[in-house]
Amino acid sequence: MNKRVRKNKPMGQIKIAKERIEKLLNIAKVDFENHPERCKKYVELAKKIGKRYNVRFTKEQKRSFCKKCNQLLIPNKTSEVEADSRKKLIIIKCTNCGNIYRNPY
Ligand SMILES: [Zn+2]
Repeated sequence: MNKRVRKNKPMGQIKIAKERIEKLLNIAKVDFENHPERCKKYVELAKKIGKRYNVRFTKEQKRSFCKKCNQLLIPNKTSEVEADSRKKLIIIKCTNCGNIYRNPY
């Protein structure tokens, strides 16, 4: 029996993958104060796990880092946050690569 033929990952593994992603992103946030250079690696690892197990990030998780450079987006530290009240948008700019995110609120 060839294991690679099996397409669907067992549910248990997906649950563990989800937990690991959540943990990694939490560690990244906590570790940012002391080791900001490590954060990208946590985000990269979380993304890798997500890809491997086909696990989608939650909205909140997706907004917590830059999709382009994997930097953790922390308001006034690694990101500039602006609110556009007319369009009801929160504009988040990554200070590392300059990528801009517009999120409705
Ligand atoms: Zn960026």
